[in-house]
Amino acid sequence: MLSIAITQERVEAALAAAGELACPACSGPLSPWGFARSREIRMRDGTRSLTPRRARCGRCDCTHVLCPAWLLPRRRDGAEVIGEALYLAASGHGHRVIARQLLRPEGTVRGWLRAGRARAGSLRACATRQLVMLDPEQGAVTPAGSGLGDAVEAIMLAVRAWVLRFGADHLGPWERAVWLTGGLLHGHPPPAP
Ligand SMILES: [Zn+2]
Repeated sequence: MLSIAITQERVEAALAAAGELACPACSGPLSPWGFARSREIRMRDGTRSLTPRRARCGRCDCTHVLCPAWLLPRRRDGAEVIGEALYLAASGHGHRVIARQLLRPEGTVRGWLRAGRARAGSLRACATRQLVMLDPEQGAVTPAGSGLGDAVEAIMLAVRAWVLRFGADHLGPWERAVWLTGGLLHGHPPPAP
């Protein structure tokens, strides 16, 4: 699954213009290759449905599911929900409090936090790499006192550096975070901006 930072309409145009979207494995040109199964994603307010585009690489023959950054690979909740949970956990809240606040089952929230903590080191490294590329003047990231805290801090700084450099667009902060980290809790980071 490939996290993309453009709208569904732009995806169609980019795929039609073969070469505008690059294969994450070999940088070859992606072209349309049907659709993946439809899914319903739970957002802060209501649900959002999506039938993701599938694309095929003209060079290595791989197919990729193109997903907008408002959802995470393998998760039924949107980036804004899971991102908020990670932020609250980084601020010291436990999974029960977060579950109540976000109106989600405790077990679901615990799963996100467990995945976030397991991946905290690589998230932090990825976000710090992006941050340094986006803003070479940026000093060291202040330690937040926990692995997840450090990761969230680095992600927030990278997102802010992106907006300062390229300007705000249709993506919310956690959508930008999903895209910058190539899936937040799963997946691989995209090539350097
Ligand atoms: Zn390829």
